Amino acid sequence: MIPIHHEASRNSSLFPLDLQGPLIDGHVHFGDLGRIGDLERYVDQLGLDQLALLSLPLTGTSADRSDPAGRDPLVHWNPEVLGAKMYLERKLGKGNIHCFGCFDNRALINPNFPEPWNPAYQVETLYGAGFSGIKMWEGKPELQAALGINLDDPKLIDAYSRAGELGMPVLIHVADPVEFWNTRGVYGSPKGHIPAFEQLMEQTWALCRKASGTRFIFPHLLFLAHDLPRLGKLLDEFPLVSVDLAPGNYFFTALGGIENLNSHGGSQPRRAQEFFSAYSDRILFGTDSFFLPMDLPLLPGTSLGNNLERFIRLTHFLGTEDVGVSPYPGAGSAPLFRGLGLGKDVMNNIMGMNFGRVIPEKIEGKKDPRPYLDMFFSSIPESGKRKDEVFTIINLGYPKV
Ligand SMILES: [Zn+2]
Repeated sequence: MIPIHHEASRNSSLFPLDLQGPLIDGHVHFGDLGRIGDLERYVDQLGLDQLALLSLPLTGTSADRSDPAGRDPLVHWNPEVLGAKMYLERKLGKGNIHCFGCFDNRALINPNFPEPWNPAYQVETLYGAGFSGIKMWEGKPELQAALGINLDDPKLIDAYSRAGELGMPVLIHVADPVEFWNTRGVYGSPKGHIPAFEQLMEQTWALCRKASGTRFIFPHLLFLAHDLPRLGKLLDEFPLVSVDLAPGNYFFTALGGIENLNSHGGSQPRRAQEFFSAYSDRILFGTDSFFLPMDLPLLPGTSLGNNLERFIRLTHFLGTEDVGVSPYPGAGSAPLFRGLGLGKDVMNNIMGMNFGRVIPEKIEGKKDPRPYLDMFFSSIPESGKRKDEVFTIINLGYPKV
């Protein structure tokens, strides 16, 4: 049973329905301890009961080489995520902030790296440091090309299986909106070894088959919002698989787009409603809010106001039949979609109950992450400022050693 801490403080104007269960944002990116105050206000203003904070693997991305704060190499934001957990659990209680840690992929691109790439071993290390789950971005087409690793690589299958044994879910970003591969899209002209959309889908089915005891979460509805029957097949075939609702413009238009309403007589929103009802225990709410450095070229952070807006628009999209505009900065203010008007039971499942089904209670955030952090920072030259920032927060929760 998930305790509900904030029900009294929930701002009813933010929510389209009177929710009875816990309220959990299962997909929040964190990477800048200077923004911990923003994250705290986010939790307070929404009255969230729990939060999943996601790191990102940065080796092989532009962020690893050109972080404006000069903290290269970043590798990932695992330390920042652990710091935020420590800070917020003082308010929400132990076990209510779930951290999803990333793999250290330096050995994949640096032939002189002192240790071989062993993600199964890393799963155990992350578990020992208090992470609840694994976050992977290695299914993002450019990153997959840069790292040269498929999602069903035998070493990753071992890692997923180990995570499954430890009760850790594995959240994997796979692909991108299918339009990105069109001739005028992001991957329209061949660039390096960018995998095709279909190759990424094949990898997804393969990894689910090969690590069938692991709970997988595929964010953004696995970029199959345009093909819900196919997504339904995946969920039917693999009972431990869930998807999350971290949105994108693609997603709102594919599920409830105004153009679809006009040209198909509203059939697509009806299909989306049916899908959400049929799989209401397999869909997790998440906003994809970016509490990241605001000046990072790879993925600039978004403001507190914008992150709150994402939350509100996504809940209204799900719970009402209101016409909405894109919650994304610069995406315009034209009406984009009509909400799905999902029922109360479906909403209660999506907004929090399902999260309790994928996160085991046994990982309660009682572990001391400092040995892991010491080890990590010792492998990064000139990480003093970043290390001090992280340890200042972590030390709030543990006696000095
Ligand atoms: Zn995300």
